[in-house]
Amino acid sequence: MNVYDSNRIFDSVKKIGFIKTDKHDDANCYILNTCHIRDKAKEKVYHEVGRVKKLYKKKNKPIMIVAGCVAQAENQEMLKREPYIDIVIGPQSYHKINQLIKNFTEKKKKEETDFDTIEKFEYFDKIKNSSSKISSFLTIQEGCDKFCHFCVVPFTRGPEYSRPFRKIMSEAEELIKNGVKEITLVGQNVNAYSYEENSKVYKISDLLNELEKYSELDRIRYTTSHPRDMTDDLIDCYSTNKKLMPFIHLPIQSGSNKILKLMNRKHTVEEYLNIYEKLKKIDSKIEFSSDFIISYPGETDKDFEDTINLIKKIKFINSYSFIFSPRPGTKAADLKLIDNEISKDRLIKVQKILFSHQLEMNKSFENKSIDILVENKMKEQNKLFGRNMYLNSVIFEGDEKNIGKIIKVKIANCNQNSLFGEVVNNNMRAA
Ligand code: SAM
Ligand code: SF4
Repeated sequence: MNVYDSNRIFDSVKKIGFIKTDKHDDANCYILNTCHIRDKAKEKVYHEVGRVKKLYKKKNKPIMIVAGCVAQAENQEMLKREPYIDIVIGPQSYHKINQLIKNFTEKKKKEETDFDTIEKFEYFDKIKNSSSKISSFLTIQEGCDKFCHFCVVPFTRGPEYSRPFRKIMSEAEELIKNGVKEITLVGQNVNAYSYEENSKVYKISDLLNELEKYSELDRIRYTTSHPRDMTDDLIDCYSTNKKLMPFIHLPIQSGSNKILKLMNRKHTVEEYLNIYEKLKKIDSKIEFSSDFIISYPGETDKDFEDTINLIKKIKFINSYSFIFSPRPGTKAADLKLIDNEISKDRLIKVQKILFSHQLEMNKSFENKSIDILVENKMKEQNKLFGRNMYLNSVIFEGDEKNIGKIIKVKIANCNQNSLFGEVVNNNMRAA
């Protein structure tokens, strides 16, 4: 979502004459978009501000803006702790950024952290989305009402809000006109999307089905979804929607029902497995990825084993795993932490298995010709970059005229993160 937000912030400041520059020490405004999901994120922000400070030592200081969830959570504190920061702006106040920049004076530092979600989207609905990346994000929903005990999102992004269906489709049309071939619908709880108009309730399945109709659009994805909102209409899309990719990021966090309850996840392992089985029945090619929180307070060896067993059962092809990080203001903030050495050991064990599944999946593509959506030419190598249906990175030599097309690439070898191959001659355009 921060990638989407950063693009939209740029679309806004462009209107008051700003352009992007790669020459960091030339810039007269520096916007740092931040994430607050784990504790290290906050320290990274101060570290980055320190780096900018050094970069500008002998020159005029740029206007230093910290945006995003760290800005929302820390607000005034940031201005106090780091005087180099001039403006702090939370995710639901981005519609005010042009005004803040225009009014900025060295003496009047400013913090904007109101939850004006509706005003924000109304403002951005009037500004064209300029993204022309072959694969682009489109926010359909923000915020969360679920309040998992470990998570800051309900506090930093605010309550759940779904954008009007027609506004989302107009923005999708803009992206498609810009040449975008793959759209990923994003939201903290993307499948909780629900918008009512003229007595019809639009769900994410309606968005997916409407997007499928655009002949110039090749692929559709969505992230991040919550198991509780995997309703049958969404599951059915996997049997009817030809452009919906057979890969779903569906975080479970733990394989132990006891821990899921302590986390206030509002779903069980059995409910998750039920979704998995329904989807596999529709199409055995559908693969899963997940997020795992390791060593949540109360996690015993047995609970951890349950997580390992679940991972072995589902064989997630790609996942994120992190040790529990206490977040201020959340219910789990003050719970007794599990010994650090035990936690590190568990993380290593879990990642070893996750990575082995990832490599096994990648190896299964060797010597096969697969459909790749070509996204761009790589900066450092004279090669093309694209992705297969499971979002694996694929690197190969080829003609730039293929950017934006789906072509067949024969995979020669791979590592854990990427596949390497060559373009198959007489490429036929694949579906
Ligand atoms: N809404 C999605 C869901 O419910 O599954 C997840 C979105 S959350 C922004 C992204 C991921 O960050 C979570 O799935 C969780 O694994 C991780 N996360 C959130 N809070 C965390 C914490 N306090 N410590 C460690 N990981 C955390
Ligand atoms: Fe955070 Fe997701 Fe839980 Fe909401 S559902 S509180 S975003 S982990």
